[in-house]
Amino acid sequence: MNLTDITAALDALEPDSRQLEVNSTDRAKLLNACFEYANDFVEHIEQIPAFVPDPTDANHFKSEKFSEEGLEFETILSIVKKAVDRPGLNPASGGHLGYIPGGGIFPSAVADFLVAVFNRYAGIHFASPGAVKMENFLIGWMAGLVGYPSGAAGHLASGGSIANLTAIVTARDAVELHSSEYETAAIYLTEQVHHCIDKAIRIAGMEAAKVRKIEMDDHYRMNTSHLISQIEADLDAGLKPFLIVASAGTTDTGAIDPLDEIGEIAEQYNLWLHIDAAYGGFFQLIDQLRPQLKGIEKSDSVVVDPHKGLFLPYGIGAVIVKNAAALHRSHRYQAEYMQDATQNSEAWSPAELSPELTKHFRGMRMWLPLKLLGLKPFKSALWEKVLLARYFYEKIQAWEAFETGPYPDLSVVIYRYRATEGNGNVENLKLARMVQNDGRIFISSTTIYNKVWLRLAVLSFRTRKNTIDQLINILADKVKQL
Ligand SMILES: *Cc1c(COP(=O)(O)O)cnc(C)c1O
Repeated sequence: MNLTDITAALDALEPDSRQLEVNSTDRAKLLNACFEYANDFVEHIEQIPAFVPDPTDANHFKSEKFSEEGLEFETILSIVKKAVDRPGLNPASGGHLGYIPGGGIFPSAVADFLVAVFNRYAGIHFASPGAVKMENFLIGWMAGLVGYPSGAAGHLASGGSIANLTAIVTARDAVELHSSEYETAAIYLTEQVHHCIDKAIRIAGMEAAKVRKIEMDDHYRMNTSHLISQIEADLDAGLKPFLIVASAGTTDTGAIDPLDEIGEIAEQYNLWLHIDAAYGGFFQLIDQLRPQLKGIEKSDSVVVDPHKGLFLPYGIGAVIVKNAAALHRSHRYQAEYMQDATQNSEAWSPAELSPELTKHFRGMRMWLPLKLLGLKPFKSALWEKVLLARYFYEKIQAWEAFETGPYPDLSVVIYRYRATEGNGNVENLKLARMVQNDGRIFISSTTIYNKVWLRLAVLSFRTRKNTIDQLINILADKVKQL
């Protein structure tokens, strides 16, 4: 192509290319339609099922094609509504009482919108000092919340799983574990640790390590005398104990391991203590619960999930490491093409503290709602969730048809239908399915020591006392049909 051809081609391309810059009228149209949709969703959230078991249009994307010309936004929204926004679980519903429920507070969506429009580069301080400082401020706030002294650093990752992986890799490198030593390295956790920890150990290359499943007490909390005897036995056998992973709120039962004692043991044996507080971490905001979480400050690293405990929409989980240098050691990098960006940096950048480089500026979706609404509603909602779990526990306990598990440490209750014969596993699975298929409330089940339990996990900011009462009514109804 000569210069004339290039110029002519550029002129011809420009009108179409310019369509990527949506004009002001169309921007307003998009936003208005989007607001209508979102507002309708929130206004009718109580009528929208918590679970739609049978997707009516499951194959939509199988026949989906992109065309050269665009579609009307209304048409697109109708596809979204039918194919995406209805089938399956509805984590925005207060009736979502399974797994660990998600959030979706509206101000976070507004923050995400702004972030997407101005598209700041949050990976490196040089590129967006404001974004990076905001994220570091949030890390500092959470570090303070768990009681770390200054000198901690962290990263706002996409969720708890990636945050836990980041911590596991940091622990591995901090104790200078060489790959030739993986087979003799020992890691301590319980059967109730979240599966993402096992996954992280494998992804970190340490599948060969000795992963010790420490016994639990009848509250499904780590048994510290067994922890000590296992560490001693491993030391005697010439192994290299290096990591304890404790849980501050397990997914299955919400149990908090005895963090204070575990912290002392970790110190005594010079092991890295990582605490997975993805679910339980933000309960530290509640005065009444802080005593139970005591010892969390003794850990070397911790994970908390704002998309759980702060009711934010999915896509934000934080890892915090007490000694910033350890996190940096595992995630630093050097690249010649980054030379302008990495010089004179006066603050830690996410890119040198995490596996990410270009990343979503996640800080804004957390900072904006906390500034806009203040801390009080978050604290009240968290305490409300704990009390709702206790309310449910009391109701179930007084009900002859059911037995309960341990008194809830946080906002998860396990309970099960008492079958007239056998172990009741079949009946409990059936009951879970019946409630799920009903759709108004979603509950999940789990199996602990071969026993099937039903779970109630309250963490949706929209769950209220009437939601729990509705579940009790549904259970009564389904039990009759069993
Ligand atoms: C949810 C959860 C995780 C995993 O976090 P994601 O954000 O789902 O990746 C890890 N640990 C615990 C205790 C959890 O509740």
